[in-house]
Amino acid sequence: MKIAHNFNAGPCVLPKPAMQAGIEALKDFAGTGMGVIEVSHRSKEWQNIMDETVALWKELYNIPEGYHVLFLGGGASTQFLYVPFNLLNKKAAYLETGGWASKAAKEAKYFGEVEIVASSKETTYNYIPKGWKVPTDADYFHITTNNTLYGTEIKEDMDCPITLVADMSSDFMSRPVDVSKYGLIYGGAQKNVGPAGVTVVIVREDILGKVERPLPTMVDYRTHIKDGSMFNTPPVFPIFIMHETLKWIKSVGGLKVIEKMNIEKSDMLYNEIDSNPMFKGTIIDKADRSRMNVCFVMEDKYKDKEADFLEFAKAAGMVGIKGHRSTGGFRASIYNACPKESVQALINCMQEYAKKNA
Ligand SMILES: *Cc1c(COP(=O)(O)O)cnc(C)c1O
Repeated sequence: MKIAHNFNAGPCVLPKPAMQAGIEALKDFAGTGMGVIEVSHRSKEWQNIMDETVALWKELYNIPEGYHVLFLGGGASTQFLYVPFNLLNKKAAYLETGGWASKAAKEAKYFGEVEIVASSKETTYNYIPKGWKVPTDADYFHITTNNTLYGTEIKEDMDCPITLVADMSSDFMSRPVDVSKYGLIYGGAQKNVGPAGVTVVIVREDILGKVERPLPTMVDYRTHIKDGSMFNTPPVFPIFIMHETLKWIKSVGGLKVIEKMNIEKSDMLYNEIDSNPMFKGTIIDKADRSRMNVCFVMEDKYKDKEADFLEFAKAAGMVGIKGHRSTGGFRASIYNACPKESVQALINCMQEYAKKNA
């Protein structure tokens, strides 16, 4: 089989054991003689997977009492509207650190006043704004912990005087998180915790039921809490693969170990970017650099070589390193399941290219 070093931004590389378990479960799920996508979602075999997956989230993220873990459809983008629908009475505050953060704020405007506390938009989101203040009269403060498109990341859980809401789509389960600092955390599974098709919401029960507007059944988080994420038929296969992905995270030692691996992999790649004469990073303040999406470009005098390097890298098995269409250059997404060997292969590729062309 062809070997691919997969740096896709999402969907992306998944742990091999999770992929293998998925293949087996399509043939025969839990000894039922049926595939996992053929059994009833009301069966005890499936209920076990739901219960275990919730339990794995609670264990790995050390989720305190009072929180619910939900598995919904619609992707993280649908949460951009669920959040204000359920939480915004008059005003919400947003930190604009990237394209996804901006899209989240746009949806909130349908429900009330939105204050952008700070934005790095003018410099294509190449830093995390500092020194802003959260307005205490807002209903919640929304952050996007990892800026998938441009490669910045908020790596610490901040103190917030009002309900803190976070889109963690692209750095979910990449480090231990102090969940108690958040009222609500959400994310699409397809970057670190599974395939596309399931969206995870972690919500503290006491923040719900406070808006004045009537809530349609399907967008009311309380519906999904009450029905154990089975108000409608859940996306069974994505949840199954997520279950296996979390088992893999646990088997390697949990989130402290995963975080160490992510620091090691991203340091390796940033070190190469900083020392290689042909490349440079786009996020100058090292503290802001994402461990998940490593963005870089060619040094100015080699600008015309970008397409050539992409071809060179492709021939060596690199997949998905072309930068986002709005920035050009390169982006290597090195999520949890991206092996260190793939990062090393990319580094080798950059070194070889520089030897020939610098
Ligand atoms: C990918 C991504 C999204 C969009 O997720 P969908 O599930 O495709 O809607 C939202 N926010 C962030 C930070 C992302 O990386």
